[in-house]
Amino acid sequence: MLHKLSDTIYYLSNQDDRERPTLGLVCGDRYSLIVDSGNSPQHAQDFLLEIEKLNVPPVKYVVITHAHWDHFLGMNDFEATVIVNSQTNEVIKEWQDMSYDDGSLQNYVTTNQMSDMCMKIIQTDMPNRDSFKLKAPDVIFDKTLTIDLGNKVCVIERINATHTNDSTIIYIPDEKVIFLGDCAYGTTSNSLFHYNQSQLLPMMKDIQKYDAEMFLLGHESICDLNEMNIYWEELTTASQAVKTSSLENALESFKVENKRDPNDNELFFIKAFVNDHIAQTL
Ligand SMILES: [Zn+2]
Repeated sequence: MLHKLSDTIYYLSNQDDRERPTLGLVCGDRYSLIVDSGNSPQHAQDFLLEIEKLNVPPVKYVVITHAHWDHFLGMNDFEATVIVNSQTNEVIKEWQDMSYDDGSLQNYVTTNQMSDMCMKIIQTDMPNRDSFKLKAPDVIFDKTLTIDLGNKVCVIERINATHTNDSTIIYIPDEKVIFLGDCAYGTTSNSLFHYNQSQLLPMMKDIQKYDAEMFLLGHESICDLNEMNIYWEELTTASQAVKTSSLENALESFKVENKRDPNDNELFFIKAFVNDHIAQTL
């Protein structure tokens, strides 16, 4: 079931047990736009089935928030213009060259080109895939793109981000709604979960320049302004305490600077910022 956020914005909630991120639908007078195409053709079809139940203008655009498989592998199923930034396009090119039969998938997992979870979802949700080829995106942009769906403007921007270096956000000024994809999350490299410390403040600046009141996140669904501000506050407070790869020193600084122990979220972020220092030495 789609959740109705406003008269013109809907979303399909993330489903963690199937690695399905939040998918968005923005409707203008003439056209509709989709945010992320799902983690498989099945995910895309489930979304399209829900959209059909609404009496909304045809889906003309699909914006992919970043080049992680769970956000774009369903793109073939939309008869629409697929929009990505140039960096996302570079990564998606690699997936266009891939084969999706069992032997190839296993090979990608063995060579760390694909996660085990990704292979399992593909095997479950794409039964007929021996000749599957991922299509190419249609529109490649560099920094920003504005689309008018008919009295409904969508501002699309590639921003600095802690999750990936190809993050795209979509802001709908009329509704004060912003789709963030996964941009505000950390990332895992060399099996180490870390939070890109140098990107945190530039990212917050890029997001906070928009007058948003509702935030849709890739694996959270929705946050209001208050929840988002708490998230930023905890992240920045944690980041300020981390100057080296020593967790002990970071915890000590946190206590000195804030005159208290970190809460659970802050502790999680402190560890992730410490890991970021460690990741730079690997
Ligand atoms: Zn992601």
